Amino acid sequence: MQNTGSPGVLLRTFTLIELLVVIAIIAILAAMLLPALNQAKGRAHQISCVGNQKQLGLSMLMYADDSNEYHVPYYRNYLEGGSAPYQWSRYIDEEYLKATDSFFCPTTPEMRAYFDSQSVSYRYFFTAYGYNYWNIGTSYRYEGNVLDTPPARLAELLMPDTTILTLDAAYRTDYTAGANNATDADSGCCNNVPHARHSDGVNILWCDGSVRYMKVTPLDPWAQLGTGANNTFWGRK
Ligand SMILES: [Zn+2]
Repeated sequence: MQNTGSPGVLLRTFTLIELLVVIAIIAILAAMLLPALNQAKGRAHQISCVGNQKQLGLSMLMYADDSNEYHVPYYRNYLEGGSAPYQWSRYIDEEYLKATDSFFCPTTPEMRAYFDSQSVSYRYFFTAYGYNYWNIGTSYRYEGNVLDTPPARLAELLMPDTTILTLDAAYRTDYTAGANNATDADSGCCNNVPHARHSDGVNILWCDGSVRYMKVTPLDPWAQLGTGANNTFWGRK
């Protein structure tokens, strides 16, 4: 369609059909690109999560290096006879990691918000990565004057590349709060579970410091990961 706007000037404008065609092409292009963009975003989150847990692994292995090769106990302060829980995650962050952000998977900003809403002495129970508490950290607390099972030693683990140290974890009820351990299927306590937040899978930090991805069933991650002290992935071996 051609109009004359002012004398001597010829204007070219779009017809309604032409506009609709352009809009339809943009919609088709967007529909084609969005899944690819979402996939790229998910992949970026997964890589960032791997980086977080690698940092965590370095910090935990540095602790073991400084501690006669013992892994960090789940409740650090019980070693000194204290009574209030001083979580492994708080100890590692304050003494080695010094980067609280590394305790949070980028897929779950709500977990960081929950952590920030809690008191300092309590919030480290709600990081986004759960420790293999039952088999590696143990509580290592004073029972009277007797220490219970100490944490695993580096040399004790003959297959560290297939023994879980930490992994993506959550508080079971709504997945908006984190969990600093993920072995409650064994301990029978609380509701802390592996959390399949990367395309139905979890990133796992293994005891040798490597981080690898594993597909799991979101509502039953134990189907792939198993439970128990003699288990392939959790137990000391
Ligand atoms: Zn993650």
